[in-house]
Amino acid sequence: MAPENYKRYDLHCHTRYSACSMQSTRDVLKVALKRNLSGLAITDHNQIAGALEAQKLLRHEFKEAFSRKRFELVVGEEILTDRCELLAYYLNGRIRPGNFYEVIDKIREQGAICSIAHPYTVFRKGFRGDISEVKSKVDGLECFNSRNLIPGRNRMAEKMAERLSLGKTAGSDAHSLIEIGRAYTLFSPSLSLKKAIRLRKAFVQGTSFFSPLGFVASAVSKRIR
Ligand SMILES: [Zn+2]
Ligand SMILES: [Zn+2]
Repeated sequence: MAPENYKRYDLHCHTRYSACSMQSTRDVLKVALKRNLSGLAITDHNQIAGALEAQKLLRHEFKEAFSRKRFELVVGEEILTDRCELLAYYLNGRIRPGNFYEVIDKIREQGAICSIAHPYTVFRKGFRGDISEVKSKVDGLECFNSRNLIPGRNRMAEKMAERLSLGKTAGSDAHSLIEIGRAYTLFSPSLSLKKAIRLRKAFVQGTSFFSPLGFVASAVSKRIR
């Protein structure tokens, strides 16, 4: 178990800028703060507009959390590639979907870091091929994703991260407000998120109880668009 004072970041969250989600960035921030997260990465599909909007909102409407550095908003993106979906963190500009290696080069050009999203998921896009071949290319693996429905898939990812000496990340993959904070990445307050992942000093924790409401919200949202 990680010590109590460790920071807790939910590193996978969608907003209405993803076709499968309807939650506004304002509501996402409100809920993340209410659930006492120390950080949240907004990782919309192939898009960073929602994350940038949230960053502005945090500065102007959630001044207390922003000025006391109580909460960090990480501009992220869940980028589709031919091998997997990549979660990128600390982006300045949007990266378009494409070839796995080319996308990683673009992530590096921005000084950002990346983790392979839900590598062993069954019903969505897991990693195609052998992860050990790309271990020098990525910083981490998503070792806990609350939307992984098959038991053991998160544990498989965590074991692989340990075997390949990769960093660990975790996130709720929230598409509805109720899911935010269901999984988080834990690390010492003496480290930054980047360092914690790169130095393999981040832990993962979460619950994969799947909310039927979340599913319904995604389905409805897709139909509306
Ligand atoms: Zn995904
Ligand atoms: Zn996602």
